[in-house]
Amino acid sequence: MKFASQLVQHQAAPGDPYRPTATPIYQTATFEQEHADSFGDFDYSRSGNPTRKVLEELVAKLEGGQRGFAFASGMAAITAVARTLRAGDEILADSDLYGGTCRLFTRVLERSGITAHYADAGDLETFAAKITPRTRIIYAESPTNPLLRVLDLRALAALAHANGALLVVDNSLMSPYLQRPLELGADVVLHSATKFLCGHADVTGGMVVVRDEKLGGDIAFLQNAEGNALAPFDCFLLQRGLKTLKLRLDAQQRNAQAIAEFLAADARVGHVFYPGLTHSPLQRSQASGAGSVLSFTAHSTEAAKAIAENAKMFQICVSFGSVHSTISLPAAMSHASVPPEIAATRVLPPELVRISVGIEDSGDLIADLDQALTAAASHALSFAAK
Ligand SMILES: *Cc1c(COP(=O)(O)O)cnc(C)c1O
Repeated sequence: MKFASQLVQHQAAPGDPYRPTATPIYQTATFEQEHADSFGDFDYSRSGNPTRKVLEELVAKLEGGQRGFAFASGMAAITAVARTLRAGDEILADSDLYGGTCRLFTRVLERSGITAHYADAGDLETFAAKITPRTRIIYAESPTNPLLRVLDLRALAALAHANGALLVVDNSLMSPYLQRPLELGADVVLHSATKFLCGHADVTGGMVVVRDEKLGGDIAFLQNAEGNALAPFDCFLLQRGLKTLKLRLDAQQRNAQAIAEFLAADARVGHVFYPGLTHSPLQRSQASGAGSVLSFTAHSTEAAKAIAENAKMFQICVSFGSVHSTISLPAAMSHASVPPEIAATRVLPPELVRISVGIEDSGDLIADLDQALTAAASHALSFAAK
């Protein structure tokens, strides 16, 4: 089955005697056992729940993996993968990571004796030089957020495997509709399901998908042992959101392309970062689209702030991937949690504006950005006159 069919053609409630067409919310902590000395399919919702199972199997299938796991947030999903490591193990990560991931690696894992190193994974030779015999995980996002750098995932998988490590890819920005890292050689795919998988900004959730049964067993063990799985109602909402993943992303991506072209032609804007503008051959070789998140530099930090505050259809919000357009200043918002010593090594211009494009009318969105750019320019003039 093609991806569009997979999103809706799956059993909503396997084994349910009423044969519901939507997955019920099995809002129960416990399941009665038939016998005192044996368990049924489910016994306790921390260990497993039917609503969660349908979601986990669906996302595993969409990513082309063996097993999927739903967690209470993207960070909980990343933590579960990190928990497979032991003291002394190392992570080698691309330097352009989500702020919260950096914070987890640097400020939390360090307490358990796990060390993260960072290097630009776009420069494979320099990156490879940072591998040590203790490197267990190579970690990357592609395209990166917020600068939309495209990394060669096939090459990173080969590098990881040649060194006895796993390649872990955070696929939140693309979703399995546009990119399936396991097919490119990755071992683990992560999602902040809060973003595109949900699509409606009404759930925080995370997913882990693996292709190795043994690793899957370990993640299942950790999910039960640490008790951070996604609750049944949130699993239900995520599944409902997933049904329209393709429709949403097709519309969002069309809008994003139109907006990127508008911004790229406008002198009030500095550089526009969007793989759909550069027609990156690498992006085309590993993903089927450029997504709907883009960023651009304003002429100053003040102008960036004025653009965000004057845009009316773009809510000032962290996060991305919703049907509703949002705008943010990554340096001050989503990436403010990057520890200063790492922030110093990466390029994140304070005048960078990131937008996540929704499903609204593209003409309305462009008109709104146009007036926000004008307002920001006149604001700068009056600022200069003072
Ligand atoms: C948002 C985000 C996360 C964290 O996910 P939460 O659901 O907020 O915990 C991780 N990685 C990326 C790329 C993200 O955008």
